Amino acid sequence: MKKNAIQPLFLLYLWRKVVIMVAFTFNFFIMKIWLDGKLVDQSEATVSVFDHGVLYGDGVFEGIRFYSGKVFRLEEHIVRLFDSMRYLDIHCPWSFEEVCNATKETVAANGMEDGYIRLVVTRGTGDLGLNPRNCPKPSMFIIVQNIALYPAEMYENGLSMITSTFRRPNPDILCPQVKSLNYLNGISAKMEAVAQGAGEALMLNQRGNVAECTGDNIFIVRNGVVMTPPLTEGALGGITRHAVFDICAELGITCIEKVMNRFDVLSADECFLTGTAAEVIAATSLDGRKIGSGVAGPVTGRILARFRTLVRE
Ligand code: PMP
Repeated sequence: MKKNAIQPLFLLYLWRKVVIMVAFTFNFFIMKIWLDGKLVDQSEATVSVFDHGVLYGDGVFEGIRFYSGKVFRLEEHIVRLFDSMRYLDIHCPWSFEEVCNATKETVAANGMEDGYIRLVVTRGTGDLGLNPRNCPKPSMFIIVQNIALYPAEMYENGLSMITSTFRRPNPDILCPQVKSLNYLNGISAKMEAVAQGAGEALMLNQRGNVAECTGDNIFIVRNGVVMTPPLTEGALGGITRHAVFDICAELGITCIEKVMNRFDVLSADECFLTGTAAEVIAATSLDGRKIGSGVAGPVTGRILARFRTLVRE
């Protein structure tokens, strides 16, 4: 090819890259949504006002990330989704494999490299009564979008937390291990954090022990040992939490489950939160008091660094 023919081609390539970048940044693309078995344009992706997911929060969901086009720990997420459905007696019309494939199909259809997946299964359409038996068929939709939960510098400097006045409910009130559409408990706590200018809210359980944060699991580090509350304290079985267990095992860091209270957090050397959206992020203060030296600690740094490579493997 002649030299002067290469230049316009290169400019065209550059132009295309810029358009794609701008479109993704501002969400200009018409997203393809998977809805009840079909990929449809965003404008056609609607659910009924009689869906019990809308009327009562009767449904379950997953938040999943993909990196370099590959979904991170997809099977683990779908196992949790099916566990939540089993608990609520929601009979998914799609099999485990079909849900996995639909998730991958939605990622591929949107042509993004990195992003966040929201997979929702609702009880389906019924009447205005609570009885789920009047909803003959659950509905499922999958959305893919860009996400940046916290600014990049927060991963360097850590975020602040407050202790919420809202407690995580006991399993006999609302089971914290079920990832249901009923998030008002966490939302109420998040509103307290926002009102006080904090990044997250620490949530205690009915016994006053640490459960987790509004949408993240919590870990502390003391004398080089990483600790997190057991799920029985009212935490969701986080997929990122599990990834941290794996990372600690690989790096030779002792990681244990331990019942803890506010004292343990305030007297810890380090604290960090984990979640699909937040990934691994240091929490450097609680209720205006520094945790450790008040900066992101070295153990957190090692775990975060490994997490960032792990998700792209
Ligand atoms: N706890 C709660 C209440 C959550 O909603 C989430 C997910 N955002 C987590 C913990 C973290 O779970 P995962 O690592 O699977 O995202």
